[in-house]
Amino acid sequence: MLNYRWLLSDPRITTLSVGPATADELDWPLQVADTDGALNQAEQKAIARLDQAQKDALGGDQCAQCHACLPCPEAINIPEVLRLRNLAVAYEMTAFGQYRYGMFENAGHWFPGKRGDRCTDCGDCLPRCPQQLQIPSLLRDTHQRLGGQKRKRLWEE
Ligand code: SF4
Ligand code: SF4
Repeated sequence: MLNYRWLLSDPRITTLSVGPATADELDWPLQVADTDGALNQAEQKAIARLDQAQKDALGGDQCAQCHACLPCPEAINIPEVLRLRNLAVAYEMTAFGQYRYGMFENAGHWFPGKRGDRCTDCGDCLPRCPQQLQIPSLLRDTHQRLGGQKRKRLWEE
């Protein structure tokens, strides 16, 4: 529910698109549907704790999602691959990461870009990364953690 509140607290965002698989998955979105004010103190603290947990877990391997590394000549979606790694390592969101990672190259424009194991070590991205991440090895690590079953969009399964 906190993620919905975080989104709705941004005045640029007026609509949330949710994809419930069952009717009860609408309960949380509906609880906050009319709560679009600024985050309260408890919500701010919770988000700060999540941010800190991510920093602690990832250390110098945290991708800052700045997209400066693109374009990749192999069309690897570097920021999204590493976002899934961030979530898997910091929050144990491995199942989510595997599901989304499996959509690379399988879900068309809904999930653009190639998988991490397409990296050829050309090195083009390395000088562009302000975090000085070892992008090729992090991509390979992500593929090992999250690679596996191919997935399409929910309604195509
Ligand atoms: S090193 Fe790998 S990820 Fe980086 S630009 Fe080259 S192919 Fe893409
Ligand atoms: S430039 Fe570095 S920190 Fe920014 S998105 Fe790419 S890999 Fe992540």
